[in-house]
Amino acid sequence: MATYIILLGPPGAGKGTQAEILTETTKLVHISSGDLFRENIQNQTKLGKLAKSYMDKGELVPDDVTIDMIRDRIARADCEAGAILDGFPRTPNQADELEKMLAEFGGQVNAVLYITANELILIERTSGRWSCRAQGHIYHQQFNMPKKPGICDYDGSELYHRDDDTAETVAIRIGVYLEQTMPLVEYYRKRGKLIEINGAQAVEQVTKDLLTALKDNYL
Ligand code: AMP
Repeated sequence: MATYIILLGPPGAGKGTQAEILTETTKLVHISSGDLFRENIQNQTKLGKLAKSYMDKGELVPDDVTIDMIRDRIARADCEAGAILDGFPRTPNQADELEKMLAEFGGQVNAVLYITANELILIERTSGRWSCRAQGHIYHQQFNMPKKPGICDYDGSELYHRDDDTAETVAIRIGVYLEQTMPLVEYYRKRGKLIEINGAQAVEQVTKDLLTALKDNYL
């Protein structure tokens, strides 16, 4: 059975940063729904144009196109062993659809890592976040600086500040998270999959806690 690990939490909790690290230790691929949308925007696809109109406002992209996009990604050969899902599912309907997809592809959700942090931290992290143009590697101007300013350590591409990481849009995204994504906490708790991690700690400590929890129970 392929192993799927879901990263759940509000914007700025550290899902993307931790996913990058987890993918190195587990050798599972990192699938970020936000990165997939941003790739589509960069390539000016029809999906990209549609997604942008929602993302700019801080709203969720409609379930049907999001689910199709993830389905196509999971169907690819590099997901044979499973994946780290970052930013998907974000609604109970997406979670139901994920169950169906995984049943079809011979996979299962092994663990849901629920990373928490208070609103002040979320705003601080997102407003200082820099993302790499080529592959979405994540930096922070204070907590996780690149070796050379403005340049990604991994692929040398330009770092940019996401349009939706302004304080105003982040506040909307947190509201959307509380309303539409928070129900997933109970959804996965009921299924015995939820592991809660304190995301307010330093990056290294959060990683340690995640790996301990995964080793104890799921990997
Ligand atoms: P992220 O990079 O995870 O912060 O996502 C950025 C934006 O992409 C979100 O604010 C949404 O507009 C959109 N998005 C990402 N993942 C999803 C999803 N699973 N469902 C709907 N919209 C999503």
